[in-house]
Amino acid sequence: MTLPIAQLGAEVLRRVAPEVRDIDTPQVQELIDRLFATCNEARGMGIAAPQVYADARIFIMSSKPNDRYPNAPLMQPTAIINPEIIAYGGTIDKDWEGCLSIPGIRALVPRHTHLHVRYATREGEHVERVFEGFLARVFAHEFDHLEGTVFIDRVESTRDIVTEREFRRIIGV
Ligand SMILES: [Zn+2]
Repeated sequence: MTLPIAQLGAEVLRRVAPEVRDIDTPQVQELIDRLFATCNEARGMGIAAPQVYADARIFIMSSKPNDRYPNAPLMQPTAIINPEIIAYGGTIDKDWEGCLSIPGIRALVPRHTHLHVRYATREGEHVERVFEGFLARVFAHEFDHLEGTVFIDRVESTRDIVTEREFRRIIGV
């Protein structure tokens, strides 16, 4: 059920993904199931369709505390389809991010603390809501994947990029 994960350098990670026209098809529903399985197996906080070589504006958000993100809130894995960012709010905060497509690297990434967003669910319902803090960060990171952008594109300085081993030393795990 899981899918191979594209790594940095793969062309698919640099494309703008097209909108999903019809959510209620077996192909789209199966892709969502496989994204959930892949995200779960890789212990990610999210995964976007381009990361599994699929050209579609779909990503999964999934958040629970672990040793790398001890302060992550609990959020049931959720499929986000054809997302839009309506407004950016709050302040800009720098915090650590990693990516399943860029293994072994962590970086401090500036992001807005609040995002007002709209998206469709896998049942085709339209949802409008505000994410804040860690979840706003996950949403923004995954949304970037649909635009062909990765988190290291967003660093203020290459000095904010560290290896996983040094990251663990810095945060003390
Ligand atoms: Zn990523």
